[in-house]
Amino acid sequence: MIDRSYLKALAASLGVSLDDRALERFDRYARLLCDWNEKINLTAITDPQEICVKHFADSLSVLAKVEIPQDAKLIDVGTGAGFPGLALKIARPDLRVTLLDSTKKKLMVLDDISQKLELDVELLHKRAEEAGQSRPYREQYDIATARAVANLAVLSEYCLPFVKVGGRFLAMKSAKTQEELAGAKKAIGQLGGRVEKVHTLQLETAGERTILELKKQSPTPAPYPRPSAKIARFPLG
Ligand code: SAM
Repeated sequence: MIDRSYLKALAASLGVSLDDRALERFDRYARLLCDWNEKINLTAITDPQEICVKHFADSLSVLAKVEIPQDAKLIDVGTGAGFPGLALKIARPDLRVTLLDSTKKKLMVLDDISQKLELDVELLHKRAEEAGQSRPYREQYDIATARAVANLAVLSEYCLPFVKVGGRFLAMKSAKTQEELAGAKKAIGQLGGRVEKVHTLQLETAGERTILELKKQSPTPAPYPRPSAKIARFPLG
């Protein structure tokens, strides 16, 4: 379905090398994504070349910008159809990946796809703000990632509680994040984080992308994350 040499070159342009096994998995992933998309609304992107750029390469851009240690524990919050978490697992099978989403149907799709791709990932059907208060998940991860889930202040409350002190939260955003960042800085500090770096990159035909790299420097205070209704009514910041 996808042009494997195109995806290989695209990834290489980001400094990410994909072997044949990874390319075969990405090809199968694209097919399964399109099959499932006929039954469940997962993505508006169904053109194979666009899937390569806007889903696969965009997810892999994390690896281009941030060094993720071997065997790191990573949680992808609001993973949807697996972006960026499942794509990262394909490129880096050493990573211990948890895919979290509050929508059961999406987890069902990910269960099918990960089994067919023979990828060992943990699937977690929970709201981020519930899992973040639960001992098996709180401050257990080296890396948390999120793409297209919420604004940065809310997203930081969802994601920073999962990260160990010394670990990182990587928020994937499109261009123009300065305002969002300014509005979330106080919240990030309250949650034990600090903005380490703002990475920008040009994603082929899709335009500019930003990856905000937040470092966890102290434990998240116990009240956070707060229940959903509180986060919605009284966003931090
Ligand atoms: N990250 C994927 C991507 O970029 O393609 C999916 C993005 S989709 C727009 C947002 C996803 O976040 C949905 O699958 C939704 O169910 C999930 N989500 C939103 N709020 C959530 C929460 N509080 N806890 C867990 N998942 C959440």
